[in-house]
Amino acid sequence: MRRISPALVHSLPKCDLHVHLDGSVRVGTIRDAANKMGVRLPTQDLKELTKYVQVPPDCRSLSDFLKAFEVFYPVLKDPEILERISYELCEDASKENIRYMEVRFAPVLQAREGFPMEEVVKSVLKGLKRGGRDFKIRTLLLLCCYRSEPPITSIQTVNLALKYRENGVAGIDLAGDEAHFPVGERKEAFLIAKKNNLPATVHAGEAGGAENIRFALEVLGARRIGHGVRLREDPDLLEKVKRERIPLEMCLTSNVQTQVVKEYDLHPFREYYDLGIPVTINTDDRSVSNITLTSEIIRAIEYYQLSLEDIKKITLNGIEHAFTTEKERADLKREFEKEFQELGID
Ligand SMILES: [Zn+2]
Repeated sequence: MRRISPALVHSLPKCDLHVHLDGSVRVGTIRDAANKMGVRLPTQDLKELTKYVQVPPDCRSLSDFLKAFEVFYPVLKDPEILERISYELCEDASKENIRYMEVRFAPVLQAREGFPMEEVVKSVLKGLKRGGRDFKIRTLLLLCCYRSEPPITSIQTVNLALKYRENGVAGIDLAGDEAHFPVGERKEAFLIAKKNNLPATVHAGEAGGAENIRFALEVLGARRIGHGVRLREDPDLLEKVKRERIPLEMCLTSNVQTQVVKEYDLHPFREYYDLGIPVTINTDDRSVSNITLTSEIIRAIEYYQLSLEDIKKITLNGIEHAFTTEKERADLKREFEKEFQELGID
């Protein structure tokens, strides 16, 4: 196998289908936002603040992972700040040659009195559009229904996604605490999306079992699965996912940090890839996890003995299953294939 340099991985064309806006905020921006919103942070020193809002590489606990979000969550509920973090995410992603990115967040969590969900969505779209233009990255937005919020808010979220679908919103997602909230409660919202042919992905088989993946596919109409780590617990379902080529949005470091898997080498990524399931590599929360897509791809190469040809295939899986138009998928595929070829990767 040829030696793979980090610089080469950095230069590869990339797509990231599973990116949480609120987990991808620069630490300096968190400090600025807190000062603007009058929220007291544990410290003003950037290096110190990093320890509160990013987990260390050796994080092996869901509660430590979630604690990082708690520190800065109250400071994002502002139109200018949401626009800024969306814009900056485009810049950060473009620096490692991510050319197509689907960004997701739950509007219900950023709304407050005087700042309703629709305005929240408009602020994020504004930042993504401006960032997309300035940094030459194609971005689309997925709106997350949130498990611990009342089911009515999921219906409102789907309706908002439908309203803005021609204007930057590509689909919906179901996020939040999978272990403690029954997935069935969101059926009504997801059926509205299904009826309107609005693409859906669902976080499933992460903190919950394979039965949530089955429900997401068979009842909620999910076209992709976020994580899907626990799929292997149900061999029949594994066979169905393989047969129907259902893509899995895998997020390696996130899974280790939240202890969905104990360590990287126990992750089923390679097993699913070898079965022919269209797996993809994604960041999840680039800032909280202190990672980039480049560092995640390098990890995958090292832990799962992947070649650059494998990385090309995995990248093209993402393009093939992107929630965009058929034309854009074809254009991106052509563009990416050409670049891989120029780098000598077939
Ligand atoms: Zn996620």
